[in-house]
Amino acid sequence: MIRVVVSGALGRMGQESCRAILDAPDMILVGAVDGTPKNNKLGQVLGREDIDIAVHSDLQTTLQQTTPDVLVDFTNPKAVFNNIKTTIDNRVRPVVGTTGLSSAEIEYLKKAAAQRGIGGLIAPNFAIGALLMIKFSAMAVKYFPHVEIIELHHDQKIDAPSGTALKTAEVLAEVRGKMHQGLPTEYEKITGARGGNYEGVRIHSVRLPGYVAHQEVIFGGSGQTLTIRHDSISRDSFMPGLLMSVRAVININELVYGLENLIFE
Ligand code: NAP
Repeated sequence: MIRVVVSGALGRMGQESCRAILDAPDMILVGAVDGTPKNNKLGQVLGREDIDIAVHSDLQTTLQQTTPDVLVDFTNPKAVFNNIKTTIDNRVRPVVGTTGLSSAEIEYLKKAAAQRGIGGLIAPNFAIGALLMIKFSAMAVKYFPHVEIIELHHDQKIDAPSGTALKTAEVLAEVRGKMHQGLPTEYEKITGARGGNYEGVRIHSVRLPGYVAHQEVIFGGSGQTLTIRHDSISRDSFMPGLLMSVRAVININELVYGLENLIFE
């Protein structure tokens, strides 16, 4: 059985993850951590009174007391770096769903994991369909180098653009190279109207109640456009990829960035 602690357990993704881990036949949820000090019983929050797990606020103590194999983190961009550093220092394998880690932070964590021979995964998106969207976009940009991204999320999301949009832009920029698109003399009448700019790839972030996580990658060519779109309609969409990741990190000894690097050839 794989022993798992969830950090951010009372959040939207954390609760969904706890449910999925509790239902996985080869996993055991041994602990739960959340932001502000709370005396909550996880079972009460999940509506599963048979679950007797308290929610703690101190990750270090929880890791030491529960001795998990894997830590799943769905917290926020401010908390995640220290959480994962603590996790690796305790020789526990991190599976990180939280977005917002900088490239420098990811590099630091990769080195820390390598020094200890700890496997782990940082995955901006666990939805397999979203990973395919990025893969198909990398194929399309070879033929359609003019491309923009629109990502749409619920209005409680703290960071913009989404980790998935940034990852998509990184992949697109790598395949097509740096390029200016649009009219060289264009200007914005309202700042930000043309979106964020990653190596010439424009990213537009929509935040509205009602959305979960959605993205369109729009390619423009002569007389035609191609749109590749993925929709996470509910948070269930992330769970198969999350469980796959928890199983996978047991058998690797490096910190990998991107679930696609574990599941696609
Ligand atoms: P959320 O509902 O705000 O949940 C975050 C939880 O983390 C809150 O309960 C918060 O507690 C807790 N928290 C804050 N600081 C903490 C700390 N230091 N230690 C432990 N827990 C802490 O957010 P969400 O919608 O679940 O999203 C969480 C993250 O997952 C975001 O970064 C989001 O972008 C990402 N995400 C990733 C995927 C993916 O597939 N990888 C999918 C969806 C979302 P307080 O409220 O008390 O601060």
